[in-house]
Amino acid sequence: MAELRLRNVNKVFQQTHVLHDINLHIADGDFVVFVGPSGCGKSTLLRTIAGLEDITSGELYIGGALVNDVAPAKRGVGMVFQSYALYPHMTVYENMAFGLKLDGAGQDEIRSKVESVAQTLQLGALLKRKPAALSGGQRQRVAIGRAIVREPKVFLFDEPLSNLDASLRVQTRLEIAKLHERLGSTMIYVTHDQVEAMTLADKIVVMNQGRIEQVGTPLELYNQPASEFVATFIGSPR
Ligand code: ADP
Ligand code: MG
Repeated sequence: MAELRLRNVNKVFQQTHVLHDINLHIADGDFVVFVGPSGCGKSTLLRTIAGLEDITSGELYIGGALVNDVAPAKRGVGMVFQSYALYPHMTVYENMAFGLKLDGAGQDEIRSKVESVAQTLQLGALLKRKPAALSGGQRQRVAIGRAIVREPKVFLFDEPLSNLDASLRVQTRLEIAKLHERLGSTMIYVTHDQVEAMTLADKIVVMNQGRIEQVGTPLELYNQPASEFVATFIGSPR
């Protein structure tokens, strides 16, 4: 089970109150897309779920367990960021194997998992290369692969496609959708691209200035935007 629940989550950096009383339930296996203007708190929210930021107040549950004080590596979440953050001195294989080693997996298990994920993401021929010898799209697929091999219960994507050119963006988006279908894991995905949001999401969460404006299916938001802000953001003819 990998449902997520946020209860009255607040995040304050020094004087800046970035997340205001966030209440949200994400069902197991849902693909939830967060949208909202730059600076509204999307990345901060993802980082708090991952455990890379403490929350100032409130409760965060993953799979029914309170994780406020659980270390990032123990939360069962995998993350893919906009900047690929691959280890430059390691090969593709080593990049993908690294987390599994940390998890204590044996050599055979590591090899079979990495090879199977590499196959899925069409990286099989690139396992011996270093990141510098890969295209942007290939690097991003390695970053996705590195998260997948650990079989996280929850995936967090922070604008994973925004550094890719248009055709690769579409291709990688389709790969992510297939992945969700195949793994059935819970996916939380931040983007400022409306097409990505509308095509990937079971549910869209619209954020504005650290608050949730509306949660709904793409169709609900389009047909019944709760505010002018949502209408403008989703592009519906309100
Ligand atoms: P988004 O991802 O929606 O663009 P962010 O979550 O990155 O927004 O940022 C939300 C707000 O929090 C911004 O005002 C940003 O300046 C502030 N912020 C983010 N990280 C920090 C930090 N480490 N220290 C202080 N302020 C921060
Ligand atoms: Mg961001």
